[in-house]
Amino acid sequence: MSQGKINVSVENIFPLIKKFLYSDHEIFLRELISNATDATLKLKHLTSIGEAKVEYGNPRIEIKVDKEGKKIHIIDQGLGMTSDEVEKYINQVAFSGAEEFLNKYEDGAKDTGIIGHFGLGFYSAFMVAEKVEIITKSFKDEPAAHWSCDGSPNFTLEESKKEDRGTEIILHIAEDSTEFLEDSRITELLNKYNKFMPVPIKFGTKTETLPKPEDAKEEDEAPTQEVDNIINNPNPAWTKQPADLKEEDYKGFYRELYPMQFEEPLFHIHLNVDYPFNLTGILYFPKLTNDLNVQKDKIQLYQNQVFVTDNVEGIVPEFLTMLRGVIDSPDIPLNVSRSYLQADGAVKKISSYITRKVADKLSSLFKNNREDFEAKWNDIKIVIEYGMLSEDKFFDKADKFALYPTVDGSFFTFEELQEKIKANQTDKDDKLVILYASDKEAQHSYIEAAKTKGYEVLLMDSPIIAHLMQKLEGSKENITFVRVDSDHVDNLIKKEENQISKLSDEEKETLKTDLEKTIESKSYTIQLEAMDSSASPFIITEPEFMRRMKEMQQTGGGG
Ligand code: ADP
Ligand code: MG
Repeated sequence: MSQGKINVSVENIFPLIKKFLYSDHEIFLRELISNATDATLKLKHLTSIGEAKVEYGNPRIEIKVDKEGKKIHIIDQGLGMTSDEVEKYINQVAFSGAEEFLNKYEDGAKDTGIIGHFGLGFYSAFMVAEKVEIITKSFKDEPAAHWSCDGSPNFTLEESKKEDRGTEIILHIAEDSTEFLEDSRITELLNKYNKFMPVPIKFGTKTETLPKPEDAKEEDEAPTQEVDNIINNPNPAWTKQPADLKEEDYKGFYRELYPMQFEEPLFHIHLNVDYPFNLTGILYFPKLTNDLNVQKDKIQLYQNQVFVTDNVEGIVPEFLTMLRGVIDSPDIPLNVSRSYLQADGAVKKISSYITRKVADKLSSLFKNNREDFEAKWNDIKIVIEYGMLSEDKFFDKADKFALYPTVDGSFFTFEELQEKIKANQTDKDDKLVILYASDKEAQHSYIEAAKTKGYEVLLMDSPIIAHLMQKLEGSKENITFVRVDSDHVDNLIKKEENQISKLSDEEKETLKTDLEKTIESKSYTIQLEAMDSSASPFIITEPEFMRRMKEMQQTGGGG
């Protein structure tokens, strides 16, 4: 038996770890399961390259809660540690064995999926435990080791009788952390952090119903059996190649992610890139309502299949945080502030990659099945319009597939719209006038009037459309949005029949003054340019406000 002092310069690091290292005490389990996973994946790699001459088998990780003894056990069948390795990896705080492993095996180990890298995860055990034991046997032919530490920097290290390969961590749960001795709390944590980790994780058993035997009678109960309760899916859809997945697999994975969501997603986007950064994931477009606050199922961020957070602010552009799904990237720096994240080069690239993939997917949906795209427009428009407003790169792409619905239920892209109205809807400054209604019922009579004149009227009723119209006016040449009940509508010009304009300005002025002498000009407007046909060289209209006044008098309404 040897004794010694843990090698750190701070006199007592444990109170520090307990208070400051992680704000969330519950992540101790994630960290210890990550280490158990790493130990298993390392062994897998070493056996595959012939460096470990042992049977890899079907290793798994087991979690046991001993409520009476106030202990939690985390047991793995990974590569284990010799007592020298315990000295090296455990007693040196902030020395990462995971990082060392990756450096040693370089490119070959790049794809092992090894998680650790700060060399601090193990010590998170002391956030919930007053004493921690490690009993470990290496795959190397050496005696097992038993390390024990009660939360002060003093530890003991002795030989152990453990015979099977792997590591068992025993946490003696502290008085203030007994919540973690509840099965329900552990289940909750496993579901949150470990649901998609790459090595099977067992927590207790469950009863499975077997099919009834052929000769069973109607009233016979189906037979049951106790089986291991494996809490995770080690091969989640996002880790597979898109070519290996069918539509049904994507839908199935959505249900796995959000068991409480009964509505199916509208479509998915599979992210898969390994240069210049590593990122996989699947994003889903859910049916969105106008009430953005109701959205609670968010995009989940993973690193090597370990859940990290569902706050992806700063990583995913804001307009895409309304989507759902999973992003997995070891290249996103964590434990840094969100503002730092936004400035990080890798994160910027990731963010613009995601934006581009979403735009490309939308564009292909639009091109390949316009009818379906139109049918989904109402459910996806908020994201697209918001994206067009907030990201210029997205605007440029979305400009080709963003749809503008008319009051009659047809859909135009902006280009189609321009084409459609250019002969019929310009104003005196030669600007294209895009008429829109914001409320079909309330503006009914104006809509009808505009339609009789052959004008197209858009229905612009989404919550941020006013901003988008402004953006469009700013970024396109010579267009203006005019609400259908504004008096500008009376000033529209049919381009090709504009004969009056052949008159000089002087001639026009004379004609206008002459006309004004003959009618009462205060209540009518004379427009020389706006003619319906060459048969009427000019039109005389009531100004919009006069008309509305009269309308109000007629209906007795007040505005
Ligand atoms: P990191 O995982 O970032 O390397 P940790 O503090 O979580 O740092 O763990 C430190 C080291 O202790 C690991 O890198 C590994 O070498 C060793 N270790 C921890 N848990 C186990 C385990 N279950 N089996 C084998 N080695 C382990
Ligand atoms: Mg670790």
